[in-house]
Amino acid sequence: DDEGDYRGKSQFRTHMKTNEAASEFARTKTLAQQRRFLPVYSVREEMLQVIRENQVVVVVGETGSGKTTQMTQYLAEDGYTTFGLVGCTQPRRVAAMSVAKRVSEEMGVELGAEVGYSIRFEDVTSADTVIKYMTDGVLLRETLVEPDLDRYSAIIMDEAHERSLNTDVLFGILKKVVARRRDFRLIVTSATLDSQKFSDFFGSVPIFKIPGRTFPVDVLFSKTPQEDYVEAAVKQAIAVHLGHPPGDILIFMTGQEEIEATCFSIAERLEQLGEGVPDALILPIYSQLPSDLQAKIFERAPEGTRKIVVSTNIAETSLTVDGIIYVIDTGYAKMKVYNPKMGMDALTVFPESQAAANQRSGRAGRTGPGTCWRLFTESAFRHEMLLATVPEIQRTNLSNTVLLLKSLNIDNLLEFDFMDPPPQASGRRAGENIMHSMYQLWVLGALDNTGGLTALGRKMGEFPLDPPLAKMLLAGAQMGCSNEVLTVVSMLSVPSVFFRPPDRAEESDAAREKFFVPESDHLTLLHVYQQWKSNGYRGDWCSAHFLQSKGLKKAKEVRTQLLDIMQQQRIPITSCGNDWDVVRKAICSSYFHQAAKLKGIGEYVNCRTGMPCFLHPTSALYGLGYTPDYITYHELVFTSKEYMQWLAEMGPMFFSVKETHSSRLEQRQKERTARAVMEGELEKSQAEARVLQAA
Ligand code: ADP
Ligand code: MG
Repeated sequence: DDEGDYRGKSQFRTHMKTNEAASEFARTKTLAQQRRFLPVYSVREEMLQVIRENQVVVVVGETGSGKTTQMTQYLAEDGYTTFGLVGCTQPRRVAAMSVAKRVSEEMGVELGAEVGYSIRFEDVTSADTVIKYMTDGVLLRETLVEPDLDRYSAIIMDEAHERSLNTDVLFGILKKVVARRRDFRLIVTSATLDSQKFSDFFGSVPIFKIPGRTFPVDVLFSKTPQEDYVEAAVKQAIAVHLGHPPGDILIFMTGQEEIEATCFSIAERLEQLGEGVPDALILPIYSQLPSDLQAKIFERAPEGTRKIVVSTNIAETSLTVDGIIYVIDTGYAKMKVYNPKMGMDALTVFPESQAAANQRSGRAGRTGPGTCWRLFTESAFRHEMLLATVPEIQRTNLSNTVLLLKSLNIDNLLEFDFMDPPPQASGRRAGENIMHSMYQLWVLGALDNTGGLTALGRKMGEFPLDPPLAKMLLAGAQMGCSNEVLTVVSMLSVPSVFFRPPDRAEESDAAREKFFVPESDHLTLLHVYQQWKSNGYRGDWCSAHFLQSKGLKKAKEVRTQLLDIMQQQRIPITSCGNDWDVVRKAICSSYFHQAAKLKGIGEYVNCRTGMPCFLHPTSALYGLGYTPDYITYHELVFTSKEYMQWLAEMGPMFFSVKETHSSRLEQRQKERTARAVMEGELEKSQAEARVLQAA
C-alpha cells in the first residue's frame, strides 16, 4: 500500500475523467481557443478598465490563470503599444525566455520580432518588438540609462510575491517613475495574498482579483521524517506511476545535481521493473538546462504514458505545466543567503516556507482534483517552517544593488524607499546589510571615504557583473592584461564547460587534466578558451576534449558584450602574452577578501575569518596535488565538508597574514577600525548634507 507512510484524507481515485478531459482540451483546441479558456479572459474588459483609470494596479491571481502570458497581449490590444513598449519583468531567466516563446506562438509571430525577451548577456528583441519579457535585473540596468523608462508605456512587474532583490529595488525606482510620468502604467502581479502590502506601498492602489478556478488537492504528510528525500521521492514517484490513474507527476527538488540523480534513479528503477510497466517521460527542469530541453516539459506525453517532471522551485509559480495532478514535495529549496562568517553569499539548502509548500501542492489542482505527497511531517510543517520566505533583500549581499543605486545618484541608501528595508543592526539606524556591502565596495575602491562613488566605482557600475568581477576587468586593464582577464571573467559567467558523462568519468577527467594550469583554476579556464580559439572555435574539437561547445560559445558571446562595454568606456584592451602571473595579480586585486592560507593537506583557512575550507575535487590544484601557501577563491560550495571551488594562487604581496591567532585578531581589529572610520565619515557627510538641505 503506497499510502501507508502518509497521513491525510485520500479520495483521489476518481479524478481520471477531469484530467482526461483537460488533456483532450489541450490536444484539440487551437491556441486562440486555449487563450479564451483561461480564467483571466473572463475578466479581461473589467481589468483593462481598472488599468485605464489607475496608474498603478495590483493584480492577484492563482498560478496558471494567465497573468504572465495574457496581460501583455491585452495591453497591446488596448493600444498601449502604440506609444511605447509593454514590458514584463520576471525574477527568473528561464521564465522570461519560456513565456516570451509561448506568447510569440500565441500571436503567430517570430520570437524576437514583435515579442522578444532580454536576459543578462542575451537580448532577443529587435526594432519591431512591442512586447518585451525580461528579468527584473535587466530592467533595473535600463533605469541606469533611462531613469524615466521613456521607451515603455507600461510595465508589468510579474511574480512580485517572490520578492527578489531586483524586484524590491525596482519597486522604489518605479514608484518615482509613476509620479513623474502620468502616461505610464504599472501593474504588479502576485500569486499570493501579500497583495495588500504592495497596494499600500504605492498609496492604496486598487487590487484586482482574477477569480480562481482550482480543484481540491489532497495533501498527505509523511508520518516520519525522511532521511534521504531523493530516495523517498523516487520511491513515491514509482508508486504513483504504477498504482494511480493517468496524470502527470511533478517532483520538487532543490537543484541540478539532485534533479539529475532523481531522473536517473527513476529511469533505472522503471527499467529494472521490466516489461509490462507503462512508459514514462522523465523530464528535468532547472535554470542551467539548455532551452531546447527546457521546452520539452510543455510537450504532451504520448498516449498511455505519463510525464514525470523533476524541477527546482521554478515550477512553483513561474512556470505552469498543464496536466499535473500529482505533486511530490521534498520540502526543501536552495536559497542564496549571505553568510557573515564567510563574508559572502552562498547557495544553501533550506526547508521551504509554509507558503511555498502550499504553492507547490496547489500545482496538483489546476486541471482537476489532485494529490500532493509531502515528504516531511505535519509537525515539521507547523513548527519548523517559516510562514513565508524571507525576501532576498534581507538575506543576501547587497554590494551589487548598492553600486547600482549609487550609480543612479541615490546617495543616501538608508533613506531609499524600500518596502522592507534591509536588516537593521541592533541599536543602530544604519541598515547593517547596506553598511557591510558599502564596506566591501570601499575595499574594492568603488566608494570613497564618504560613501560616494569613485571614478573606478562609476566604471564598475557600467558592467552587468558582480563588483569583484568588474573590478577584476578594470584591474586587468591597468596591469596590461585586460584581454586575458576578459576571457577569465566571461568563462566565470557561464556554467562549467567541462563535460563529465557518468559512464566515461575517467576518460573525461583525464581530458580535463590536460588543460590544468597547476597554480590556478582561473588560468585553467583561460587555457581552455585559448586552445578552443586556436582550434578555430570548433565543435568537434570540444567533443574530442570533453568540453561543452554550447557553454564555450556562450562565453564567447559574453566576451563580445563585455568587450563592447570596455570599448565604449575607452578602457584599453591589452595583452600580457604568456606572462600569466600578471593575470593572477589582477585576480588577486579583486578577490583578496576571499583569500585563504594553507593549513594542512588540502585544507585552508580563510585569512580574515579563520573559517576552514577545502579544495574542491574538480579543482586543478586538487587534481595535481599542488597546494600553494595562499589562494583566493571565487566560490564556496557547501557540502558535507565545505569545499572550495575556483582557485587561484594568492600572491603574498596582498596579504601578510601570519598563522597565529593574535595576528588574525589584529587583522580583524584593523578591519573594524577601517570600517568605523568609513561609517563615521559617512554619517558626518550625511549630517552635513541634511544641514545643507535644511538651509
Ligand atoms: P500565470 O502567469 O497566471 O501563472 P501563465 O500566463 O503563465 O499563468 O499561464 C497560462 C497558461 O499558459 C498555462 O496553462 C500554461 O500552461 C500555458 N503556458 C505558459 N507558458 C507555456 C509554454 N512555454 N508552453 C506551453 N504552454 C505554456
Ligand atoms: Mg506567471
